[in-house]
Amino acid sequence: MSRGSVLVVKLGARSLPGVAVELADKSDVAPDRLLPIDQIVADVPPLPNDLIDLASFVAAYYQQPIGQCLAQMLPPLVAEPTGRVPMAARYRLTASGHEALAGARSRGVAMRSLLGSARGASTAEIRALGAHAWRTLAAWRRDGWVEPMSEKADAPPDALELNPDQRSALAAAIPDPVRFQASLLQGVTGSGKTAIYLEAAATVIRAGRQALLLVPEIGLTPQLERRIVAALPGARIAMLHSRLGPSERRRQWLAAASGEAQLIVGTRLAVFAPAPHLGLIVVDEEHDTSFKQHEGVRYHARDVAIYRASRRDVPVILGSATPSLETYAQAMRGRYRWLRLPLRATAQTALPQVRLVPTRAAGTIEGIGPALQEAIGARLARREQSLLFINRRGYAPALLCPGCGWEAPCPRCAARLVVHRETAGLRCHHCGHAEALPRACPECGNQDLMPQGSGTQRLERALADLYPAARVLRIDRDSTHGKSAFAAMRDAIDAGEVDILVGTQMLAKGHDFARLTLVGVLGADNALYSGEFRATERLFALLEQVAGRAGRRHLPGEVLVQTDFPQHPLYVALAAHDFDRFATTLLAERESLGLPPFAHLALLLGEARSPEALQAFLAAASDRGRELAAAAADACEVYSPVPAALPRRAGLERAQVLVQSRDRAALQAFLPHWRAELEQLAERRVRWTLDVDPLGFG
Ligand code: ADP
Ligand code: ZN
Ligand code: ZN
Repeated sequence: MSRGSVLVVKLGARSLPGVAVELADKSDVAPDRLLPIDQIVADVPPLPNDLIDLASFVAAYYQQPIGQCLAQMLPPLVAEPTGRVPMAARYRLTASGHEALAGARSRGVAMRSLLGSARGASTAEIRALGAHAWRTLAAWRRDGWVEPMSEKADAPPDALELNPDQRSALAAAIPDPVRFQASLLQGVTGSGKTAIYLEAAATVIRAGRQALLLVPEIGLTPQLERRIVAALPGARIAMLHSRLGPSERRRQWLAAASGEAQLIVGTRLAVFAPAPHLGLIVVDEEHDTSFKQHEGVRYHARDVAIYRASRRDVPVILGSATPSLETYAQAMRGRYRWLRLPLRATAQTALPQVRLVPTRAAGTIEGIGPALQEAIGARLARREQSLLFINRRGYAPALLCPGCGWEAPCPRCAARLVVHRETAGLRCHHCGHAEALPRACPECGNQDLMPQGSGTQRLERALADLYPAARVLRIDRDSTHGKSAFAAMRDAIDAGEVDILVGTQMLAKGHDFARLTLVGVLGADNALYSGEFRATERLFALLEQVAGRAGRRHLPGEVLVQTDFPQHPLYVALAAHDFDRFATTLLAERESLGLPPFAHLALLLGEARSPEALQAFLAAASDRGRELAAAAADACEVYSPVPAALPRRAGLERAQVLVQSRDRAALQAFLPHWRAELEQLAERRVRWTLDVDPLGFG
């Protein structure tokens, strides 16, 4: 056994994994409270020292138990059964499949040669291999070793030659010899940021080191995978994301840990991937909120990445078209190198033209205004694709009774139920509560209940009515249930089997559909009414990203945003693709209000069945916090308890106490003392968590 060894300890009937963080001859813990080690896990190498140190940092910074932080870093220790395969005409091996199966024996060989050929294999050919074949295919599909074939997949993208702007950005981002440096790569959508990441990775790989590429939760598209393979021929690649089964994730983790994997690509959890020869970290779409974990250890993978890069003395590149204001401010202060790509990479593809059109124009049908109707019609006539973006799933976000004002509330949350047409039901998007659609108002018996507002399902139906000949496809969390449904839909879009796409932010990222030339945006104004101070920052990022889907190839793109507020600075800046103007306005606003990035926050969120118990705990927490702050020269301000943004969820009352400081170090010094007090104050009836650098308010 050594420092970092992975252990199993029996706690009652349960076997729990753990990590040896220190070897000691004696302990201060009472002997009867010490547990024997049941097993040292032999087939997982000890967690390297730098990861143990990283866990200590995360534990201290985010005020979380070290054990939970270490648990984030371990590979899965168990295997799992296989899943189902969707029907597709032909399948073939992916690059990681080729690599993984290079030494396959027995049964795998026939499958491998069939699927590994350029023409792939049909489902019939696979079935002909016998009963096992189908199950093997399912497992391989789940592990990302096979993919359905589409026209696009058949033409691997050409290796790119960086243009002069890209080359100078790359040279500036990777110091020689390699050392720590943080860079913000701010480039409009399609400016060639990804091409730079991949070339940067190639550079460090040539120097014998490993590159770590972090992407948002839904940014790990097959297109990206293909581009990686084309840009790094022959490189060993490990993929780490939540869609992988445990055994595959473990395999990938081991490849990273041994140093064999030269490029490690993954979502936020990959920031903890072992990498003995780490030479570079890239965070793509660094502003994306999926980098922040919202439960358990509430870390932000971008911030952990920066810390890790500095400790390992390697460069880190943060890329975005719409950087977070935190990152933007660091670049302005000169802490990060600021690299800019203001133009799209290829001359043929200008940024799409953005038009702001009124929401309530005469002739609007189900929220689709005449300008948008006309634009969609033109695309259908030219056999081009349109994407309608509305960031609400379901049929309608509320059901109202015009007779008495009843609003179909969730019985367990302070929220209204959402109308879902397909299941003829009402559903709560916060707690999952579901009930049948009522025939009449339960309060007054009125039978004319009115669905209020519009979601993806309602828009889909309206489009089907308006354009009966068009093929409409809806993509949201409900329609893509199941691991491979989304992949199958993407294949259909690529194959040109879809005319109009309706979708939520699932469609905003990374996808590159060749014939998509129109993006219509509906319902965006809702975010302008939000109480969250980051709402407009996020809306801009989302819209710029959605707009970036239009006209990425040779066909020019157009974006129509339906709004009641065409003069709003957000829309004016969006129409000009001028993120800097928008960021400057927002930063001035944040500074005058003393909000991030000019202040640092921590949020104590409490939940309890009893409002009295919750209030008593938070009031005491706030009082103690004030005493501590006063003792430390009042560098931190501790506020009084207030209800959370969602004041009741799943039957629990929710409220919070905010702590704010202009000085990060002062906040960091305050938190451990406060947390110790909170642990004293805590009682069983109240559940609480600390969220350091929260992205939202409960
Ligand atoms: P971003 O990541 O900034 O959105 P990408 O790297 O995806 O940009 O590039 C956008 C498009 O431009 C892609 O289709 C890519 O193949 C192409 N591209 C990028 N760099 C070059 C280049 N130097 N020469 C030709 N095409 C390029
Ligand atoms: Zn009523
Ligand atoms: Zn609910």
